[in-house]
Amino acid sequence: MFKVGFRCGALLIAVYLPCIGICAAPAHGQANKSPVAPNTARVEAAVREAYEKYRNDTNGKNADYIPYLAQVDSKLFGVAVVTTDNQVFEIGDVKYSFSIQSISKVYTLALAMEELGHDRVFERIGSEPTGRAFNSVTAVVEMPTHTGNAFVNAGAIATTSLISGKNEDEKWNKILDFYSKVAGEKLVLIDEVYKSEAATNAGNKALSMLLAKYERIYADPFESVDIYTKQCSVGVNATQLARMGAVLADNGKNPATGEQVIKVEDVPFILSTMTMAGLYDSSGAWAWHVGLPAKSGVGGGIVAIVPGKGAIAVFAPRLDDAGNSVKAQEVIEYVADKLAFNLFSPSSVGLK
Ligand code: GLN
Repeated sequence: MFKVGFRCGALLIAVYLPCIGICAAPAHGQANKSPVAPNTARVEAAVREAYEKYRNDTNGKNADYIPYLAQVDSKLFGVAVVTTDNQVFEIGDVKYSFSIQSISKVYTLALAMEELGHDRVFERIGSEPTGRAFNSVTAVVEMPTHTGNAFVNAGAIATTSLISGKNEDEKWNKILDFYSKVAGEKLVLIDEVYKSEAATNAGNKALSMLLAKYERIYADPFESVDIYTKQCSVGVNATQLARMGAVLADNGKNPATGEQVIKVEDVPFILSTMTMAGLYDSSGAWAWHVGLPAKSGVGGGIVAIVPGKGAIAVFAPRLDDAGNSVKAQEVIEYVADKLAFNLFSPSSVGLK
């Protein structure tokens, strides 16, 4: 059992009140010892330092092309780490439920591979970086695969269209249930986000019709956009998101429930796509500076995976021009650097 330095019981009742200090506790009581789980005190110190260093940064601005997102409090800031041995570190607004947005694309890709197998998903979607904005039309026209990869809007809508079901409801419920299994608890749609995005998603509908022209969408285009819009509107808090990330760090197993929710052999395909395209057209700069597979969403969340060790999720709504949370990038970069997590560095496996 991990010795708790500072407990935040207030978090249980004060949904919007920031937690002061780090809350560290094994969630749900189940710990499976990983031989490479990170050192508790070092993680705690690095997360706390990063939180303090960047908490007053006001660079960037909320996404506003989805009206709901423009009015989310841009000062919200939460950081959570879940390790493969199920330790949980939390600081700040970790109980605020924000829309998962593009981070959902990771888990729909996982579900598509569960259903179809990775070869068929690769053939139908591909995994090439587009080097363009996440909602690019020219990428669909110009790329040989048209879909690009599962993490740009076109490729993600096509991935959603692969999910089987008798009707739209059955497909949507399957996706939501799968996300909930990955999170280890029931997740729900934020209805206001869904309505706000559904009323303003003409661009995504256009992408879906373009995919239809190239025969790269595999169900009704507008139905697929609607399910995709719902999946982007699922609410998660920083801790839930970190746990969803920890599943990928733990070879597809949820460290809290012990359930194998993603096939072991599918995990590298997901992590490689995250490295290639997780932060859209700034994924190259991210790989250069941080060296961890990660995924961002315009809701302000980013989750980064440290294979074998755990995941860090940060929520802060202000975004840079590429659509990635400014503070989330700063915090993850700081922690990864402090703890020598960069996967491309020999020090990530203990070599000096
Ligand atoms: N739902 C958003 C969209 O389709 C997701 C984009 C994102 O998070 N980058 O535009």
